[in-house]
Amino acid sequence: MIEFRIEKKRARLHDPRKDFALAEIESEVRYDPLTGESARICHFALKAPPPTEIGAIVELSHGHCPFCPERVETVTPRFPEDLVPGGRLRRGAALVAPNLFPYDDVSAIAVLGRDHFVPMDRVPAQLVIDGLTAARDFMRLAQKQVEGGEGFGILTWNYMPPAGATQVHPHMQVIVSRNPGNALRRALESAARYRDRFGRCFHAELLHAERTRGERWIGEAGAVAWLAPFTPTGLLGDVAAVFRERATVVDLSDADIADFAHSLVRILAALAERSLWSFNLCLMPAPFGERPERHWLTAKLLPRIYLNPKLHVSDVAYLHLLLEERFAMLYPEEVAAALRPALGGHPA
Ligand SMILES: [Zn+2]
Repeated sequence: MIEFRIEKKRARLHDPRKDFALAEIESEVRYDPLTGESARICHFALKAPPPTEIGAIVELSHGHCPFCPERVETVTPRFPEDLVPGGRLRRGAALVAPNLFPYDDVSAIAVLGRDHFVPMDRVPAQLVIDGLTAARDFMRLAQKQVEGGEGFGILTWNYMPPAGATQVHPHMQVIVSRNPGNALRRALESAARYRDRFGRCFHAELLHAERTRGERWIGEAGAVAWLAPFTPTGLLGDVAAVFRERATVVDLSDADIADFAHSLVRILAALAERSLWSFNLCLMPAPFGERPERHWLTAKLLPRIYLNPKLHVSDVAYLHLLLEERFAMLYPEEVAAALRPALGGHPA
C-alpha cells in the first residue's frame, strides 16, 4: 500500500573537468508516499557547509537580546489573565510569553533557558524537555480559544540565523490556530484519503514499511521512531520523528517528551559533527481532539546552511519557494546510515 516511487534522470554532458569526455550524471525525482508530491535529489560535491564564524554572530547578538535573563521579564509581553493566569507560563527553565509580533490569534514564544547561546552539539535534553512541556501545557490552556471548528497546536524551533531565527537565544514558536498551513493541510487531507482507501493509518503503515526495509530507519525511543524521509525537504537531508499513536502535542505524556528530547539532542550532536549548526524543527499535529487514526504527530527536523557564508548565499531558491519542489544534495539512505549510531544502532 505504501509506494516508494523513484524516477532516475541522466544528464549527458562533455565534462571540462575530464578533458571534455562525455559523461552521464545521475539524479532522481522521488514521490512522497503520502501526498505524491515530488522531490529532487542530486549528488553535489558539497557534503558539509563551509565554515562560518559562529562566535562573531553570538557576540554581535548578545548585548540586546530580549530573552536573556536580565531583560526577559521587562521586554516580553504578558498574556491576558483569562488565557494564562499570571501572564506568562513557566516550566523548569522555559518561559512562554506572547509573540510581540503575532501572526495569529494565539501566537507565543517559548524562551529556552538562561543561556544566550547553546551550541548544537551540547543542547541539554532538559532544555528541550522544559520547552516542550511548557508548549504542551500552554496549548492545553489556549486550545479553548479556537472558535468555530477544528484547531491546531503547532510548535516550531528556528535555531540560529540560517534557519530564519532573528534571535540567537534558543526559543520556540507556539501557535494555536484554525489555519494549519498549506503543507500540513495537504498532508492531513492525503492521510484522510489513505485511511478511507486502505482502512489504516498511513503513519502506522509507513513505520512498518520503513522499519522492515531498514535503509532509512534511524532508531526509536519509547513511542518515538526516527527515520530519514524518502523525499527530503532540505539540501543536506532532513530527519523525521513519528510519535506512535499520538495525534497532537497535547496528547504527549512527560515520558514521550523525555524520549523525544533525549533522542533529538543526540541527533543534533551527530549533525553538528558534520559541521551543521542551524536547523528548523516543526511538530506537525492532527487537529485537537482527533484520535490517532489517520495522522500521527510528526516532527520534521531540517538542517539549514548558508551555501556560501562569504557571499551570504541562501540554501533556498526558486525550486523550493516558487515551484514548491524539494531539492536535496544528500540521499536519505546516506543520512540515515550516518545518524543511526547516534541512537545506538549500527551504521549501514
Ligand atoms: Zn540572550
